[in-house]
Amino acid sequence: MLTRFAPSPTGYLHVGNVRTALICWMYARSQNGKFLLRFDDTDLQRSDVKYVDSIIQDLRWLGIDWDSNFKQSERFERYNEMFLRLIKEGYIYACYETREELDIKRKLQLKHGLPPIYDRSALFLTEQEKICYEQEGRKPHFRFKLDRDKVVKWNDEVKGEINIATSHISDPIVKREDGIYTYILSSVIDDIDFNVTHVVRGEDHITNTAVQIQMIQALKAKIQKFAHLPLLHFDDSKISKRKGGLDIKSIKEDEIEPMALASYLVKLGTSDPIEAHVSVQSLIDSFDIEKFSSASAQFSLSEVYKLNSKVLQQMSFTMVEERLNQIGVNYSEFWYFIRSNIEIFSEVAKWWQICKSNIEPVIFDKELAKVALNALPQGDCNENTLSEWVKAIQQTVDIKAKDLFIQLRLALTGTKTGPKLAKLLNFISRENIVTRLKE
Ligand code: GLU
Repeated sequence: MLTRFAPSPTGYLHVGNVRTALICWMYARSQNGKFLLRFDDTDLQRSDVKYVDSIIQDLRWLGIDWDSNFKQSERFERYNEMFLRLIKEGYIYACYETREELDIKRKLQLKHGLPPIYDRSALFLTEQEKICYEQEGRKPHFRFKLDRDKVVKWNDEVKGEINIATSHISDPIVKREDGIYTYILSSVIDDIDFNVTHVVRGEDHITNTAVQIQMIQALKAKIQKFAHLPLLHFDDSKISKRKGGLDIKSIKEDEIEPMALASYLVKLGTSDPIEAHVSVQSLIDSFDIEKFSSASAQFSLSEVYKLNSKVLQQMSFTMVEERLNQIGVNYSEFWYFIRSNIEIFSEVAKWWQICKSNIEPVIFDKELAKVALNALPQGDCNENTLSEWVKAIQQTVDIKAKDLFIQLRLALTGTKTGPKLAKLLNFISRENIVTRLKE
C-alpha cells in the first residue's frame, strides 16, 4: 500500500491540508504501507521554495515522516513522453483559443442557458488553419479529450459509490501555451509511475477524479482506490476575531501542541470520540478510513484548545524535559503539578516564575498580612501548610476562609486565579512567602 500527499507549494499549509496529510500518512502507517510526499510545483511562477521548506517543517512538526519525496518540476521529461503517446493515440488535441476568446464563448453559453463547457471547436481545425494560427504567433495549449458519453463510477472509500457524468465537464487543459504541464495529467502519471495504491484527498477533487480515471484508462494503467474527505467548515465569525489565520504558522504561534492538532484533525468527522492522544502511534492504531463520515465537519479552534490542555495533562516529564530545561524548570514534581493547570505550555514558565522569582504581591489588608506572617507554621511549607495556617490566622482575625484564601492567593501569587493554593505552597519557599507578606 502506498499513499501520497501532494501539496502545491504556492502557500503555507492550512489546517485543512494538514488534515489530509495526517490522514494519508496514518492510513499508510496503519496498514504498514508507505507514504510519499510530492510537491505539485509545475506552475513554476506560483511555486516557491520557501513554501516547500515551510511545508516540510510543518509536516515534521506534526511527526509525519515519508519514505520518499519528489517535485513534479523534476519530471517534465517523463510527462512529455506520456503526453506525446497520448497525442499519438488521439487522446490529446491542440487548441488555439486565447483566454479572451474562451471567456467570450463561456459568457455566450451562460447567456443562452447552456453549461459553460469547452465546445471542442479545436477538434475541427484543419492543418492549414493550425498553421495560420501558428504563423500569427499563437502557441497551442492542449486538452485531454474526455469520453463524453460515459458516467465514471467508483466506490469511494469515504463517500461511497460515486457517479460522475463527463458530459458536464470541459476537456481539461493538460499543457498550457507556455509549455507547462498542469497538475491534472502530471498527477496521473506520477501516481501510476510511483505505484500509488490509494489516493486520499479533499472532496473538492471529485470531478478531477472522474477526469483522471479516464486518463488512467487511456494510459492503460490500474485505477487506484480513492478516498475523498469531506471538507471542513470554518466558523468565520470566530476565526476573524483572531490575529492569525488557520495556517500552521499561526497555530504554532498560538502554542498549540502538534498532538492536540493531530488528535483533533484525525478524529473530527469520524465515528470515534475526539480525545487527547500524546503519541501518534495510538492514533495510528485506532485509524480506520471507514470511520470517516461522508458529511462535512465543523472545525472549532476552541475544541483544539480544550484538547491542548488535555494533551498537556497527559504528557510525561520525559516528553517535556527538554522544553522545561529551556525555561529553567528542572524537576518533575513541578511539571506533574502544573500540567493540569495550564492551557498552553508557556504558562509553565509563568507559574514557575510566580513560585520562584520576585513578584508583585497584592496586599489589600496590611494588618491581615502581619497576622498571616506571624501565624505562618514553622518549617518548610508543603501541601498541608495552608489548612493549618488558615486555622491559626482565624484564631486572631474574624474572617471567612474563602475571603482569606483570596487574600493569601493575591499576596503570594499576585493574581486572583490559578492552581490550588495548598499545592502551590509545595513550590513557594518559606523565604519567598515571608518576603511577599512583608511587602
Ligand atoms: N496539488 C493538489 C492539491 O493541492 C493535489 C491534489 C491531489 O491530491 O491529487 O490540491
